[in-house]
Amino acid sequence: MEKVVSLCKRRGFIFQSSDIYGGLSNAWDYGPYGVELKNNVKRAWWKSIVYQRNDILGMDAAILMHPKVWEASGHVENFYDLKSDCKSCKKRFKTADLADKNKCPECGGELTESRKFNLMFKTHQGAVEDAANVVYLRPETAQGMFVNFSNILDSKHPRLPFGMAQIGKAFRNEITPGNFTFRTREFEQMEVEYFVNPEDADKKLAEWIEYRFNWYLDLGLKKENLRQRPHAKDELAHYAKACTDIEYNFSFGWSELEGIANRTDFDLKQHAEASGKDLRFFDDAAKKRFYPYIIEPSGGVDRSVLAYLADAYHEEQVKEETRVVLKLHRDLSPIKVAVLPLLKNRPQLVELAKKIAQDLKKSHVTVYDDTAAIGKLYRRQDEVGTLYCVTIDVQSLEDQQVTVRDRDTMQQERIGIDKLGEYLSGKL
Ligand code: ATP
Repeated sequence: MEKVVSLCKRRGFIFQSSDIYGGLSNAWDYGPYGVELKNNVKRAWWKSIVYQRNDILGMDAAILMHPKVWEASGHVENFYDLKSDCKSCKKRFKTADLADKNKCPECGGELTESRKFNLMFKTHQGAVEDAANVVYLRPETAQGMFVNFSNILDSKHPRLPFGMAQIGKAFRNEITPGNFTFRTREFEQMEVEYFVNPEDADKKLAEWIEYRFNWYLDLGLKKENLRQRPHAKDELAHYAKACTDIEYNFSFGWSELEGIANRTDFDLKQHAEASGKDLRFFDDAAKKRFYPYIIEPSGGVDRSVLAYLADAYHEEQVKEETRVVLKLHRDLSPIKVAVLPLLKNRPQLVELAKKIAQDLKKSHVTVYDDTAAIGKLYRRQDEVGTLYCVTIDVQSLEDQQVTVRDRDTMQQERIGIDKLGEYLSGKL
């Protein structure tokens, strides 16, 4: 993981937040390659969830919601961790992580009684900071979909089973964030709320676990690094009847990428009761009104990105040198093509290379780079996972051909400039 973290900073994937001020701990900024990778992960998810299925509708709810949402959902009462503070060094710990509940693991000092610590960030809406104006930063995107259930029914008239999908920021005041971007206080979620007939819930849960598991595999995670872990009964959240986590084998141990839960009819019932609105579904055929069950695949964008980075990181011995290469899936690679002139002091070469890059930009994410010798340029592109490097050399001026180098095999092929676009489109 250390090597991945160092690559992220060195090459511009992920930086510490507010770096010049000493950094804000456990907050991270995505740089030029990081934002591309993150967008590609989100795009791949949206494509597999919204575009490639016929039963899911996309949406994008506001982060700030009516405070009653969080009372009805149970978050005000139940969304807490137990924490213990050290009376000497003032450090705070999650009680569950402590081997000795009375003694500080850092300085040996005495710990306070464990107390409830609500994980929601609280703020005030408008100019007056009083209790009447309290709002929360959402700790999950899910509630934005539950409260829009009747809007979707009225505007789109879907039949069961159907789902809603959303990608967006969520905030949790975690007591023990860490492991780079794995656990942070501000993060992004990709969530589906899938409404089903209660009698189909078990079957649909199983289908979603497979569907989501395969998404990670299809985008290149190694099978041996991915597993499903069903929750024990005493681990389940207050609303869930069953849940299976998809876990990745990070260097710090098997850890959750996504949880897929059967939330039953808990959420719709809670919101119906608290809002006074009828949130039951009307089944035309059976002439029956009832609360559907909800199957929820809930994943983290940042955790997926971290898993894809960790899995793609390779070091290979090439002649006497170590080649660092990010073998990201082609849909995830931040840059698809790099155009590199072999000599930067030959104006004709540079001009031709720039023209080729500009043409390719119409179809693929392409960069032009002439700021180093070719060996170094290749190494840079390998490190960020660029799929193809197109090299323009003196010969190209004569025979109108260029060299295309494949990231993974490092094999090179001469291709006519007029065929280059078609060749790369075929590959990509
Ligand atoms: P954990 O047990 O790791 O705290 P969780 O079970 O509380 O996670 P969920 O409430 O199921 O997490 O949230 C769904 C997804 O959102 C998680 O699978 C994870 O990918 C992501 N997520 C949750 N909390 C964080 C966080 N603090 N930082 C980054 N991603 C997070």
